[in-house]
Amino acid sequence: MIQQQYPSQLLEKAVAEFSKLPGIGRKTALRLVLWMLRQEDSDVEQFSEAISKLKHEVKYCSVCHNISDADVCPICADHRRDKATVCVVENIQDVMAVENTQQFHGLYHVLGGVISPMDGIGPGDIEIDSLIRRVAEGEVKEVILALSPTMEGDTTNFYIYRKLAAFGVKVSVIARGVSVGNELEYTDEVTLGRSIMNRTLFEER
Ligand code: ZN
Repeated sequence: MIQQQYPSQLLEKAVAEFSKLPGIGRKTALRLVLWMLRQEDSDVEQFSEAISKLKHEVKYCSVCHNISDADVCPICADHRRDKATVCVVENIQDVMAVENTQQFHGLYHVLGGVISPMDGIGPGDIEIDSLIRRVAEGEVKEVILALSPTMEGDTTNFYIYRKLAAFGVKVSVIARGVSVGNELEYTDEVTLGRSIMNRTLFEER
């Protein structure tokens, strides 16, 4: 394919950056860049400031590893939340998905991935040790595993279950049913809410 030549190096550079975004090809990138050029200076500045601030100033909650503007995220800092129940999820989108169900009032623990030997991701590469430390502190009574129903999710569930066995906490897993094969973030709110309410005790299989 012949790469389209642009009449400006600046344009070329901007298109190259936009086309790095997931799902954005060069054609769409060009359209976005040209649209950008038509906006007010202040709007474009706000846009670029939001992106550079996001990367430089973003923090992760020291307790649950959710994205946060402060050391402790608003969920962990909320005294009305049930601190005895911790929902373990793979990523930040999953926290948002579970929050949207409005069915869960406990806290979270964001692993930042799942165990995946194929991709070279072991238990030490995700936030499992910090979960065990949280449970060891004694306030947590139930850990709800809400990982995606994949082989990697199952492996991670099993690993965490084994690690928690010594602490005598209840370990449950969200009900699956209709959500099988779906990533948590794509499951609709009602289904996800129901699968949290209908969670079952984790059983070794
Ligand atoms: Zn938090």
